[in-house]
Amino acid sequence: MTTTEIQSLLPAAEALLPETVALRRRIHRRPERGLSLPATQALVVAELERLGLTARQGHETTWVTAVIEGAGPGPTVLLRGDMDALPLSEDTGLDFSSEIDGAMHACGHDTHVAMLLGAARLLVERRAAFVGRVLLMFQPGEEGFHGARVMLDEGLLEAAGPDQPASAFALHISTEYAAATINVRPGPMMAAADFLKVEVRGRGGHASQPSAALDPITVAAEIVLALQTMVTRRVEVFDPAVVTIAHLSAGTTNNIIPESAFLEGTIRTFSESTRTLVHDGIRRLATGIAEAHGATAEVEVIPGYPVTTNDPAFSELVRATAVELLGADAVPGRIDPVMGAEDFSYVLQRVPGAMAFLGARPADEDPATAPANHSNRVVFDEDSMAVGVATYVAVALRGLARA
Ligand SMILES: [Zn+2]
Repeated sequence: MTTTEIQSLLPAAEALLPETVALRRRIHRRPERGLSLPATQALVVAELERLGLTARQGHETTWVTAVIEGAGPGPTVLLRGDMDALPLSEDTGLDFSSEIDGAMHACGHDTHVAMLLGAARLLVERRAAFVGRVLLMFQPGEEGFHGARVMLDEGLLEAAGPDQPASAFALHISTEYAAATINVRPGPMMAAADFLKVEVRGRGGHASQPSAALDPITVAAEIVLALQTMVTRRVEVFDPAVVTIAHLSAGTTNNIIPESAFLEGTIRTFSESTRTLVHDGIRRLATGIAEAHGATAEVEVIPGYPVTTNDPAFSELVRATAVELLGADAVPGRIDPVMGAEDFSYVLQRVPGAMAFLGARPADEDPATAPANHSNRVVFDEDSMAVGVATYVAVALRGLARA
């Protein structure tokens, strides 16, 4: 595949843009949440069948896969699009706003579905030009429901035959970055997200007589502050962590010392070693501080998504392909990792690959105040979807040629 052929993908994706936008808006109007997205699944299946592809469907959950066969045997490249929405009521004023109260495609997964279907079409049209296979992965339940893990458990990596994919690629749209840019970095791209709950138990009593009780609130307060000290004193600064206590509750009124205090929060890390260090530190501090005061603390650390780690060689392939396709100006050289988490991390634990961000901040938005992904006012630049479609296809073709 020559550079001219790669560059021809962008005008092809632009020609397809009205259809991509229309599809995106159809999905946007009818958002579905979690692992069960029957209407979105039906739409994806119908579109794949229109392209002459065979769609395989999950039964317990509403995933969809399809395989695009090239001109001959060769490796497999996996492309991922997630399909689920968020529990928000849309407040964008767009004329294609969500028609379902309490659900909104505020993370742009509607654009991912539309872009991956557009990419499928361009790949089907170019079948004769590549060898190997492209495995399309449409997943439910990215927003905290471990949908990618469910698909892995149900045979995702064997969906294109006994040889597992040689590489995997996902795009995520974002208003964090300028429109029509591709943003990628080697190594950790997104954080691991785990959750913690601590219940501190003391002894209740009259608020005027603290010595006769055992106040769990002062113990809980000390734990909250000690966790922040731990993050700055125990965690390597170049392998950072965030611990945020986002919920703290205790007591009922002004003159009662309660029996217990409850706190919970999130833990974000970029390596397994820091992740373990922080988990152990939380348990040690909470139980130790409680014990020092004669109270007890029950600590629960609930594992969430692991670190999303880009394979260095494949992320370089994505970067170089994006430069070839779009020019260097559209591919910012250095981006920071993101403290959000992604369940594509489960795929990247098994298959070398990368996730990249597709910038889609509308040109008239100030970067400092543009509503972010997960805001009920977020608006994505739809023209950027042509860049996303072309990038999916270009990365698949370059990935197959390399493998
Ligand atoms: Zn998302």
